[in-house]
Amino acid sequence: MWHRLSDSFEPDLQAVTYFRRRLRSWGREHLREFPWRRTSDAFAVLMAEMMLRRTRAAQVAPVFVRFMEEFGNPGALAAAPPGEVATVLGPLGLRWRVPAFQEVAQRLIEAHCGRVPDTRDMLLALPGVGPYVADAVLCFAFGFPTSIVDANTVRLAGRYFGHATNPESRRSTEIQRLVSTLLDPRDPRRSNFAMLDLAAEVCQPRHPRCPVCPVRRHCVTGSA
Ligand code: SF4
Repeated sequence: MWHRLSDSFEPDLQAVTYFRRRLRSWGREHLREFPWRRTSDAFAVLMAEMMLRRTRAAQVAPVFVRFMEEFGNPGALAAAPPGEVATVLGPLGLRWRVPAFQEVAQRLIEAHCGRVPDTRDMLLALPGVGPYVADAVLCFAFGFPTSIVDANTVRLAGRYFGHATNPESRRSTEIQRLVSTLLDPRDPRRSNFAMLDLAAEVCQPRHPRCPVCPVRRHCVTGSA
């Protein structure tokens, strides 16, 4: 049963608690391993998230490792010859983004003493950093309970609560509220990783794997 989302919609608290509990336990066994998940170094997290936009995580992993070996801090990245940065980012098709990466590094040096800022406004003021990357850095590097709102988490939350969504729904404040509701504030970092992974591995766009989904019992779509 699909609902239109409205300001008055209030998620069922029991369903929210159940989702968080089941996701926590599913995450213990199923979280995907990526090199940027092993660090809370804010510069590394920022670089990883800039690479991950519209690029598959499995492809990013080896490039990220090499990138951090060669340009592991804002000073090293800002001073590197653009051709060398392009060589490292080339396999991701991100040569055209080299100026953006180096501009971010330069801005961190000039405006933030070489450190990544820990407020949303300051992150959004960095060149090429949008809401998704800013929220990811706030959560994964600094541990703030910010939700990661993208097409995947929007699809997952929409199906769970029974709301039709599309890729543009992430701009809806009501959908953002639904995604935030599902975030476990006790461990936002792992909770966000688990939501991203559940959406990618189980609640897939075309063929959701409802029979093996850990949150099926309270999912409006999966239990229908
Ligand atoms: S039960 Fe199905 S539709 Fe619901 S969250 Fe799980 S995979 Fe998605």
